[in-house]
Amino acid sequence: MAATTTTIEELPGVGPATADKLKEAGFNDLMALAVASPQSLADVAEIGNSAAQKIVLAAREVVDIGGFETGDVLLERRKSVNKVTTGSKGLDSLLGGGVETQAITEVFGAYGSGKTQLGHQLAVNATLPVDQGGLGGETVWIDTESTFRPERIVQMSLDQELDPEAILQKIHVARAFNSHHQMLLVEKANELAQTDTIRLFVVDSMTSHFRAEYVGRGVLAERQQLLNRHIHDIMRFGDVNNAAIFVTNQVMAKPDAFFGDPTRPIGGHVVAHASTFRIYLRKSKGERRIARLIDSPNLPEAEAIFTITEPGIRD
Ligand code: ADP
Ligand code: MG
Repeated sequence: MAATTTTIEELPGVGPATADKLKEAGFNDLMALAVASPQSLADVAEIGNSAAQKIVLAAREVVDIGGFETGDVLLERRKSVNKVTTGSKGLDSLLGGGVETQAITEVFGAYGSGKTQLGHQLAVNATLPVDQGGLGGETVWIDTESTFRPERIVQMSLDQELDPEAILQKIHVARAFNSHHQMLLVEKANELAQTDTIRLFVVDSMTSHFRAEYVGRGVLAERQQLLNRHIHDIMRFGDVNNAAIFVTNQVMAKPDAFFGDPTRPIGGHVVAHASTFRIYLRKSKGERRIARLIDSPNLPEAEAIFTITEPGIRD
């Protein structure tokens, strides 16, 4: 095996047919193979266990799967984390300063609670320099519900005296037609990140296709497995590019006799486990919205009030 192995096809034992099956199942790169269980590869690629084992070991020779690190090293790494402002000081401080890079921030809430608006504002703000509350970079946006509105970006940009045309050029939007397409678009984002400085990754909505396509108990495990892989692909993007990950998840507006608490997104537990920050949004009077931070690793559970107006997200 050449030291310069970069694609899964170059691994010994991976023929074109196997490569196709692996990719089909989301094992798109060497890292995915290196950390996979041989059994899962054997299943998806329809190969024997020992062949799968060899592929995994070969992939591990090429990529660094990491290991244990001491706290001081981790603290040093934390210093590379940046935070993008939401436009609301209250919401920023709820999040410990803004939406963090190298982490997943999930907002969930009912229709109209402001999830998509928040994404628009973050995409505009991400273009600002780091010392002005931005990330000095561009955005990739996976749109599953066709709710991205360039007009809204123009409004928000004008209010901040930014050139709308220049801002729009820094927001790369792809419409995902189904969950499989949605997962493939992460690969496209990886390609884009080779040439462009992508610092924000928006998936709006993360769960709607999965929820619509995998209905019923029989396919629940499969859905959660795919969603899990998708989230981990995106998380890796965030780590590699020091990008903030902002994903949305729609929940019911009212408590339901069967599902109970509306703050528990149905089937969204996979997302919940992977998310570093989870914000539950709900409507208040008029333009006011209430954000509640839930299960943060280092911040108290608390609430903030913000508004959605023509200029964007504000206090
Ligand atoms: P969600 O994605 O959670 O379903 P949205 O982010 O689309 O909700 O929020 C929609 C709400 O945002 C609208 O109900 C409206 O209150 C507000 N909104 C959208 N556009 C504007 C605007 N140009 N000016 C003021 N408020 C707006
Ligand atoms: Mg929306």
